Amino acid sequence: MTILITGGAGFLGSHLCARLLSAGHEVICLDNFYTGSMENIAALTTNPQFRVIDQDVIEPIDVNAKQIYNLACPASPVHYQGKAAIDTMKTSVLGALNVLELAAFNKATLLQASTSEVYGDPAVHPQPESYWGNVNPIGPRACYDEGKRAAETLCFDYNRHRGVDVKVMRIFNTYGPHMHPNDGRVVSNFIVQALRGEDITIYGDGTQTRSFCYVSDLIEFMVRFMASPAEVIGPINAGNPGEYTMIELAEAVLKLTGSTSKIVWRPLPVDDPKQRRPDITKAGDLLGWKPTVPLEDGLKETIAYFRKKLGA
Ligand code: NAD
Ligand code: UDP
Repeated sequence: MTILITGGAGFLGSHLCARLLSAGHEVICLDNFYTGSMENIAALTTNPQFRVIDQDVIEPIDVNAKQIYNLACPASPVHYQGKAAIDTMKTSVLGALNVLELAAFNKATLLQASTSEVYGDPAVHPQPESYWGNVNPIGPRACYDEGKRAAETLCFDYNRHRGVDVKVMRIFNTYGPHMHPNDGRVVSNFIVQALRGEDITIYGDGTQTRSFCYVSDLIEFMVRFMASPAEVIGPINAGNPGEYTMIELAEAVLKLTGSTSKIVWRPLPVDDPKQRRPDITKAGDLLGWKPTVPLEDGLKETIAYFRKKLGA
């Protein structure tokens, strides 16, 4: 089968490309290399079943694929906000529109990588899919949060009115090898800082929480969801419910790296969610999925990856 992965050169996309190639599929990776890299997919390029298209997801896509995974979008707050904000909204909304049209034309199934950010700074905890969220529509994170919410809307309307098979997953903080050292998200920041002996930057008072999912668990979720019957549309939360404060995460990274870096405190970004944990009942019931990699094991793998990459 031919499968299109937009954002295939990014952190999650590169793991998904590898997984689908190893299952014997023909994989087309479309990426504009904004946050992705050739290095992430270099090992795959000798495979004749693998093709890379360097283009923006909002431009017309000339591909015939039976499955489309739409991952194209910067995922780290430092890369989707600020100067990138307008492009982020365009990527999310026009990109989704573009791949939905392609799915309609090819009679393909589209899996949309949505996000826990659709819940904003959640007033309900943990977050079930039935929660409508608490998003500031004009804040600096809105380009991403509202962009992803609009993309979900498009998926459901293409399903209702155009009969397109769609699957919407809401991804909670996922980490692992192939994150860029300058990605800016908390796990890669703390590990890179610890390995370089630099200060560990905790934003705010560090009591905010996140739930961290290891990448192999997340990829398994994606493949299972894509293989599910057409009536399984979602949205379905994908994440590991183990919940940690940023202080706990920093301490875990310091312990596992054996680093002597010290913790420093930096201002909390605007609209930074105070707590986040997925309710994954639906994933268990509909996909028979649950995460299997504990935080400590996933951190060890990620630390080993960065040690090699940084020569540290
Ligand atoms: P990433 O930044 O590593 O990967 C995103 C990829 O998309 C990169 O290769 C980038 O170059 C590409 N891209 C960005 N804009 C593009 C455009 N306009 N056209 C073509 N390609 C473009 O991030 P990731 O963590 O791998 O995230 C992948 C997807 O999963 C994103 O859609 C993200 O919103 C979603 N997601 C990820 C997480 C997570 O914790 N990793 C959480 C929630 C949602
Ligand atoms: N954070 C931090 N130090 C960093 C990077 C992030 O304390 O160097 C915090 C950030 O303020 C947030 C949490 O870690 O509360 C997760 O941030 P990340 O950017 O990884 O993802 P988010 O869940 O906010 O999209």
